[in-house]
Amino acid sequence: MQSAKIIELIDSGARELGQRLADSELDRLARLLLELKRWSARMNLTAINDLESMVAGHVLDSLAVRPFLRGERILDVGTGAGFPGLPLAITEPQREFYLLDSTARKLGFIRHIAGELGLSNVQTVKARAEDYAPASGFATVIARAVATIPQLLEWAGQHVAEGGVMLALKGRLPEDELKELPEDWGFEITKLIVPGLDQHERHVVTLARRTF
Ligand code: SAM
Repeated sequence: MQSAKIIELIDSGARELGQRLADSELDRLARLLLELKRWSARMNLTAINDLESMVAGHVLDSLAVRPFLRGERILDVGTGAGFPGLPLAITEPQREFYLLDSTARKLGFIRHIAGELGLSNVQTVKARAEDYAPASGFATVIARAVATIPQLLEWAGQHVAEGGVMLALKGRLPEDELKELPEDWGFEITKLIVPGLDQHERHVVTLARRTF
């Protein structure tokens, strides 16, 4: 698929999400997918391999959570090849993104593409989430397809700064997971409609510490 066609698909999907992206953002998002596809052929970085599915499954699914971000410092836990962190960093240049994973191979791709695209707001962190010791907390900790919500809170709840949130991107509503939350965390569920993923349920669960 040509770059122009990918740009057109991202642009129309983003408009359906209510987002108008600049040409430079569309160009970077398309380059991200083309480079991911090229690297993935050698290194098996992503299970989704055709570009049309990558637009929906990687770019639009990531952009759908933009309205839920808070603050300047964002931690993407278990980012894999950079999702949702990279599309968010491209479209939210005023925020600082820390992309954490325990697998060095995937972080190598992120460093490469961040350099190619000139993304100065992306840092990579090679660590297990539960062992990471950042100098300060994050206004938003986000995770897609990494672990159950109780497990995420156990691994990364301590990285959420006071007044901050954890965003868990989920498919089907994880009712069982929500029954097992620690008492000091409250949550809100929002159903997402992601263009191209209409057949799939998508939810974002926003978690915050309760103030008793
Ligand atoms: N978030 C990406 C996405 O949605 O495309 C990647 C999802 S992939 C299924 C899960 C990722 O979480 C893997 O890259 C794995 O290395 C990482 N991971 C799992 N447990 C982790 C932990 N405790 N700390 C850091 N990374 C972890």
